[in-house]
Order: sequence, then structure tokens, then C-alpha cells
Amino acid sequence: MLYLDAAATTPVRREVLEAMWPYLTGTFGNASSHHSYGEAAAAGLADARARVAAVLGCRPAEVVLTSGGTEADNLAVKGVALARPRGRHVVTSAIEHPAVEESCAYLERLHGFEVTRVGVDATGTVAPDDLAAALRDDTTLCTVMTANNEIGTVQHVAALAAVARERGVPFHTDAVQAAGSLDLDVRTLGVDSLAISGHKLGAPKGVGALYVRRGLRLEPVLHGGGQERGRRSGTEDVAGAVGLARALELAATDDHVALAAARDVFVAAVLAGAPGAFLTGHPTRRLPGHASFCVPGTSGESVLLRLEQDHGVVGSPGSACAAGSDEPSAVLLACGIDPEVAATSIRFTFSDLPHLEEVEKAGFAVGRAVGDVGATPGSTASVSSPPSGV
Ligand code: PLP
Repeated sequence: MLYLDAAATTPVRREVLEAMWPYLTGTFGNASSHHSYGEAAAAGLADARARVAAVLGCRPAEVVLTSGGTEADNLAVKGVALARPRGRHVVTSAIEHPAVEESCAYLERLHGFEVTRVGVDATGTVAPDDLAAALRDDTTLCTVMTANNEIGTVQHVAALAAVARERGVPFHTDAVQAAGSLDLDVRTLGVDSLAISGHKLGAPKGVGALYVRRGLRLEPVLHGGGQERGRRSGTEDVAGAVGLARALELAATDDHVALAAARDVFVAAVLAGAPGAFLTGHPTRRLPGHASFCVPGTSGESVLLRLEQDHGVVGSPGSACAAGSDEPSAVLLACGIDPEVAATSIRFTFSDLPHLEEVEKAGFAVGRAVGDVGATPGSTASVSSPPSGV
């Protein structure tokens, strides 16, 4: 089997597991306890926090450890919006992950906020001028993702953050897909908060972090014992934090240029083998391990089923339909893709560097699966849809 769904999740790296092991066994204390077990855990936590901060280019005290990307995004969006006295207007993009989009919708529904969703061009890119035009005197938060999970497009985050800063509006970015592949120095980006998640880069599921610029006002979402300087209550997952730190450090040494080159070989093979298929998202400004397509005239899910059964290649439906619904992807619709065509999307995402021959073979296999499925139009072979946003 060739697993090409790293955007959904990745296996835990061996070095990460080794780094975590002591904190799951001997050094298992509660980091808030005032005895030697607690102190040892607290020391491990402080070290992990400092190492996460070093990768993000911030102070350790600016790192809030969370249970993952969803929580980090919820904390940033709800926490900043509800803390700001500026007003009840939030600006976001039309292609955000549900962790951000649903947090904005919650503010609309229950807290009387207005949300402006800035559109994107055909490549899924937000124009800084469009963002500037959406800002108002009562805008309290601006949030645009660093890179999109479905189409891989990387935004001009520094330029977008500069637009918001000029107007005095805090800027959050969901960097869950970008972490591990792109340089995320928060000072260079000029963002006020940034969310990452461990399981997208070789750490376990259930750990993530939110960078929160010193001085940014933030209402907690989880209330309790006041851990994480009162910003996120709950007993800290020390082993998870250690794993996250190690995974970020390892990812920084990965060869992303070679990964992008392998991805390009794969894309070329798919496009050569599957007539009519086209790449979605930006042709070049995209995540290095990300390839996403529409294959008009077929069903994306049927292609994936055939691909896994006949060729041992595992991808995912790029449209990531909402659970239990047949709605086409809002991201692809925002890019101007026809709903029927949007329903034919497929996504392949790499984390480990694959052999070029292997990826080329996999790309041609996609073409063959498209041909096979295309020969039986209307095939209703079913693969259960994942919840939107993985
Ligand atoms: N944001 C983006 C862009 C994602 O792709 C995901 C996960 O798919 C999340 C947020 C949520 O992260 P987590 O799975 O850690 O909750």
C-alpha cells in the first residue's frame, strides 16, 4: 500500500515516540504537582515549550499547548473576538477549515457578530486588497489560513497580516497544514496568533499549539485549573508536548525541495494518464507534498476505491464533503469550480519522501483508475465521506 493522505494524518515518527516514552512511563507526573514527579514533568514541559517556541520564533510564554488544531483555532477565533472591545465584526476567507469557519459561524449565531468572508481567485488565493476592503472600524479579528488542506494553496500571509496590522486588527492564521513544510517564523509573518497540530507532522493526534503574541487579549475557551497561564485549563499533556517539539524539529530538517519535485513527477503522471483531469489550487504556490485534482466525468470516490483496490494507492476525496451530506466542497466552489466538477475531486498528499519511480507509478495508476471508472459512468461504488476538513 502507498499511503498518500498525509494531509489527513501522519504516522508518529520513531524519534518522536522515543522522545515521548519517558514522559509516558517513569516521568509521568502532573506538571502542576509540587513534588519531585511533578517537577520532573514540569521541566520536560518547559523544555518542550521552549523548543516549540524556537521553531516558531517566539517566546516560550507565547506558546499555549492545546489538544490539537481544532482547539487552537477555536481558542484564537473565539478567544480574541470575545475579548476585543473594538466591535462585533470578523473578517475571514471563504476557504477556511471548519475549525475556523464554524468558530466564526458560532460568533454570528450566538454572539451577534457579523462575519465577512473574503473570496478567492481561481487558484484559491486571497488578495490583500480584498482583505483591506473588508476591514471596518469595528473589525475585531481577521483570520486567514496559511495553506489550504483541500487544494494546497499557500496564502501571502505576511502581506495579509500587514494589511490587518495597519488597521490595528489582530490577525490569526491556521497553519495546521503548513507546519512542518513552510517556515513559520511568527515575527517574519507578522501574525498575532498561529495554530498548529501535531498529527499532521509526525506527532500523535491530540496535541497542538497556539502561538499568542504577548499582549494579545484572549478570553479562554476552556475554564478550570488555570494551566497555560490561565489561557487553557486542563492537565498538560507533557508527552504530547515533547512529541510535538521533536516532530517540529525533525520536519524542519526534511528536504521539502525534493518532496515538491516528487510531487511534480506525480502530478505530471496523473495529468498524462487521465485526460481531462486538472490540478486544483495554485500551480506553484502550494504545499510541497500536495497534489489535488478534479477528474470531470467520473466520480472521485469511485476512482479512489478502484485505485486502492487495484493499485494499492490510498488518496482521499479532495472535496471532503460534509459528513452525511452530498454538498460539494465550499473551497472548490469558492474557486469558481462548477458543483458537478467539484464532486469529482481527489487529493494525494505526501509526507515521507517517496521514491520517484514509486510516485510516477502511482500517478499513472491514478490515470488507469480514472480510465476504468470512466468506462462505467454513473458507477455508485461508495467510499464513506470523511467529516469536512480532514
Ligand atoms: N485546520 C486545518 C487546515 C486542518 O487541515 C485541520 C485538520 O485536518 C485542522 C485545522 C484541525 O486540526 P486537528 O485535526 O488537530 O484538530
